[in-house]
Amino acid sequence: MRKRIIAGNWKMHKTADEAKQFTEEVLEKLSKSDKVEAVICPPAVYLATLADVAKGSDLHVSAQTMHEADEGAFTGEVSPAMLKSIGVKHVVLGHSERREYYNETDETVNAKTKAAFAHGITPIVCVGETLEQRESEATVQVVADQVTKAFADVTAENAKEAVIAYEPIWAIGTGKTATAEDANEVCGEIRKTVETLYGKDVADAVRIQYGGSVNPKNIEELLSTEHIDGALVGGASLEPASFLQLVEAGANA
Ligand code: 13P
Repeated sequence: MRKRIIAGNWKMHKTADEAKQFTEEVLEKLSKSDKVEAVICPPAVYLATLADVAKGSDLHVSAQTMHEADEGAFTGEVSPAMLKSIGVKHVVLGHSERREYYNETDETVNAKTKAAFAHGITPIVCVGETLEQRESEATVQVVADQVTKAFADVTAENAKEAVIAYEPIWAIGTGKTATAEDANEVCGEIRKTVETLYGKDVADAVRIQYGGSVNPKNIEELLSTEHIDGALVGGASLEPASFLQLVEAGANA
């Protein structure tokens, strides 16, 4: 049985005080569960503090992006070695907002995925189609291609540990969720792609999240499907109560 993973992607939200308050409140109320992994993805500036606050707890702290190199003349960037040195064990890679606004490509996502594994950091690799691609029935091809490119030269042993987030771009921040049936179907295709690349063992182990307007009301149905192992949540993860409800749904699904 795959352990569910609920991750709150804060994107560019919260001041330092708000970030700390949120984390303390969640830590206070989070119930321990073997069935779900709870992750927050705060802005980079808070990672060290929050990783310290959450140290030794069941709440994991993830970066929202990173550079692929260990160090170098890359003004403004954060490296996997730096993340590791502050106890961060997850990183979101290839989020559609990074792809759209910051030139993240399948090639950089691949380099970053390999760099994350080289440092023992679990990548949450995001894939997803645009509305135009969906309407032209290219969804399966687009996500299969993104997955194949993201995992080029990644070993089976590493791939097994990866998290893939299926986030249809048209569903992000729009209030439009893919139906559970549609989302599950695409997640199933992603699993098939992983199987083609690595075989059944890896495909059965890899965790696939759905993301795009997930909230406490719709998460149960999404998680009740065969291939959706968790959620990557933006807006509805920003309040402790709502985030805790999402995690609880993961524990009870
Ligand atoms: P929303 O949940 O706000 O639609 O954002 C989804 C997302 O992009 C999570 O990474």
